[in-house]
Amino acid sequence: MIHPKESRCTGPSRKLATRVVRSASGTDARTGASSVPIYQASTFHHASLENPPEYDYTRSGNPTRQALEDTIAQLEGGARGFAFSSGMAAISTAFMLLSNGDHVICSEDVYGGTYRLLTTILGRMGIETTFVDATDLGRLEAARRPNTRAVFLETPSNPTLKITDIAAVAEWAKKHGLLTMLDNTFMTPCLQRPIELGIDIVVHSATKFLGGHSDVLAGLAVVSNEKLGHKLKHLQNALGSVLGVQDSWLLMRGMKTLLARMECSERSARRLADWLTRQSSVTRVYYPGLPDHPGRAIHERQSQGYGAIVSFDVGSGERARRVLEHVTLPLVAVSLGAVESILSYPAMMSHAAMPREIRLQRGIGDGLLRYSVGLEALEDILGDLEQALKATR
Ligand SMILES: *Cc1c(COP(=O)(O)O)cnc(C)c1O
Repeated sequence: MIHPKESRCTGPSRKLATRVVRSASGTDARTGASSVPIYQASTFHHASLENPPEYDYTRSGNPTRQALEDTIAQLEGGARGFAFSSGMAAISTAFMLLSNGDHVICSEDVYGGTYRLLTTILGRMGIETTFVDATDLGRLEAARRPNTRAVFLETPSNPTLKITDIAAVAEWAKKHGLLTMLDNTFMTPCLQRPIELGIDIVVHSATKFLGGHSDVLAGLAVVSNEKLGHKLKHLQNALGSVLGVQDSWLLMRGMKTLLARMECSERSARRLADWLTRQSSVTRVYYPGLPDHPGRAIHERQSQGYGAIVSFDVGSGERARRVLEHVTLPLVAVSLGAVESILSYPAMMSHAAMPREIRLQRGIGDGLLRYSVGLEALEDILGDLEQALKATR
């Protein structure tokens, strides 16, 4: 499996590699320290009331958090970045751009927490959502109403890795004056930069690949222009959903190795996907790099890689449970995108908040497992899964 833009990894994305390391560290102007100082302070002294300090209170701004926010803005190619206490804090704060009476169109197989936010909280506040198969532009258009204000996308989607044509949706949305938001958690700016394709706001659960070590909970958002930046800044400060200073530093530390981790995990994920297609106990494999993936051509056009998440179906809930009981290498857990491999069971974990009927309609069957490939030796990953799959026979 070779991604057609792979050669670009040594071209423009070489520069990205440099940016990942350099922008996340910088050097401290005063001391030359190799990492950004942790400004563990909630408030800042006003030496003169006429000339207030650049930072005055940490909810409104903190130099350590600012360094992180500048880093993600640069990597995504946006105007301004924002750091939040979790991915859901980033997503819910971005949705506060909307008002009572507004309508949202959302990818149907969106992250379970986003689904919960839209259906149980925003609905109560008078913001209605229609969930559609966003891989079909006709369905997006069919769902559009006079009060539609925003479109929320996730591509590749979670966990069945469906592909939405980002540029096509962005163009359609612009024509109708809709705000576009995209959850880029699965790809990271290393593999996909939605703002360059016309998206207005990119959100991340930085808890996953960006942090990369399963030790920080964080969210990031990047906006394409200053005007949106001004609005999101107001919301971030007003709602107070900011990321703490220590966690901002830890996240930057994780992000320095993002490209190296992503490249390594992705290489193994391609081999794993390919290997899974040859296992008789696996009924279906979902990975955008597989030749029979319906969204492969679109994905290759809009990304620089296939990512490190592979989903596969073992046929039934009982067999899925047996695999989970028999694996010894991956963490059996919620979450993804870490140095260690993580095997999750969407039906009972990330998508437990989704009613079973709807879950099944969206292709998230009882036998579906999602493998987030870490940095372990590929031979060990395959060997372990092979013995666990034997238990399903
Ligand atoms: C985990 C995740 C989220 C939520 O992020 P948290 O950091 O857990 O709040 C949102 N979107 C996707 C795709 C995720 O995987």
